[in-house]
Amino acid sequence: MRKLIDEILLKEFNISKKLIDIAYDIENKLHNKFMEIDKIAEYNQYKVLKAFQQNKVSEMHFGSTTGYGYNDAGRDIVESVYADVFKTESALVRSQMVCGTHALSVALSANLKPGDEMLCPVGKPYDTLASVIGTNGARGSLIEYGVTYRQVDLLPDHGFDYENIKKAINTKTKLIEIQRSRGYSTRASFSVKEIENLIKYIRGIKGDVTILVDNCYGEFVEYIEPSEVGADMVVGSLIKNPGGGIAPIGGYIVGKTEYIDNASYKLTCPGLGKEVGASLGLNRNFLQGLFLAPQTVSASLKGAIFSAAIMEKLEFEVSPKANDNRTDIVQQLNMRTPENVIKFCQGIQKASPIDSHAIPQPWDMPGYDDQVIMAAGTFVQGSSIELSADAPIRPPYTVYLQGGLTYSHAKIGTLIAIDNMKII
Ligand SMILES: *Cc1c(COP(=O)(O)O)cnc(C)c1O
Repeated sequence: MRKLIDEILLKEFNISKKLIDIAYDIENKLHNKFMEIDKIAEYNQYKVLKAFQQNKVSEMHFGSTTGYGYNDAGRDIVESVYADVFKTESALVRSQMVCGTHALSVALSANLKPGDEMLCPVGKPYDTLASVIGTNGARGSLIEYGVTYRQVDLLPDHGFDYENIKKAINTKTKLIEIQRSRGYSTRASFSVKEIENLIKYIRGIKGDVTILVDNCYGEFVEYIEPSEVGADMVVGSLIKNPGGGIAPIGGYIVGKTEYIDNASYKLTCPGLGKEVGASLGLNRNFLQGLFLAPQTVSASLKGAIFSAAIMEKLEFEVSPKANDNRTDIVQQLNMRTPENVIKFCQGIQKASPIDSHAIPQPWDMPGYDDQVIMAAGTFVQGSSIELSADAPIRPPYTVYLQGGLTYSHAKIGTLIAIDNMKII
């Protein structure tokens, strides 16, 4: 077996013998870690299966609507299944939410009114939210509509700054956003347990504040979701974890009925809410994607762990480390130089099933402050549950690697990317 695999890596993909040998040793050492990941996937698979059965999902739900989309049983069942998986009262799962940022924007703007204050107690949120909130002066932002914004940064050790969070919460504080994943920052991602502790602390200060968790990249990485530890709304993208690599577009918001209804009035309009929004044939994709998601997430996690282990072995700084517990699928690899960043990302592209011949370059991407290089030879454009790597070109030259529809692809992607750096 090993002979055949080595041969195809060596001869068909031109990966160096030395790197293949390192990979082989590393994979053997990761056996127990991979078993842990499998167990989480198994549990989440059962959770998703149960939600399908409880809702009596049937073939008719794969049907489609057009136009207004009234009486779209499939769309309604998708939302009911999501609500059950996340253990919430309600859910909004729509192709009309075009990406994660849009879903967050809908959830925030629907639940904040002029005069309200929003607080981020875990530092600067994901780059694209600067425009949504308006901290960069963007038009149409929450700030332009009279919402005020406060932020409490993490402590130098990346812990919560409880003292200043307490000081920041005031009579105007209406909504608190907690971002689970690191995004493009160098902090660690938060575990659901850590989020629970923070939520409890916040509730102790102001019980009725609305707590939203940006769950992007976090779904199915742990046994439980933030909606099970007190978050009022949990938001994410369907071209990340919960779409399972099958959903071609979409976002979700799950949570308390009041907040989800508000979101639906913002997404469509007051009076229409969830009742409209044709599913255009996507119900089966959403359902099948969700069903596969625990497995896809586990493939991504194993890929991330493999890449961490091999880069550690090559003496690069990585976060999380191969042996750390994970709470999202993102792997941060510190490449030391812009050249390494570019070569690694180009290698990931070279390893892709789609557009493997394209050579990505750094560019000025809308919504991001620095130039960004993105490798994503994906079936769904920009899908980051598929193997993808991206990096803002700024010190400390960190590549964010994530996704992988299968572990084998995530593995070979890392090998080709490292080989492309010509460092061994
Ligand atoms: C991906 C992501 C988003 C949303 O990004 P989109 O590209 O708009 O889907 C928001 N927050 C975090 C932490 C993310 O990882």
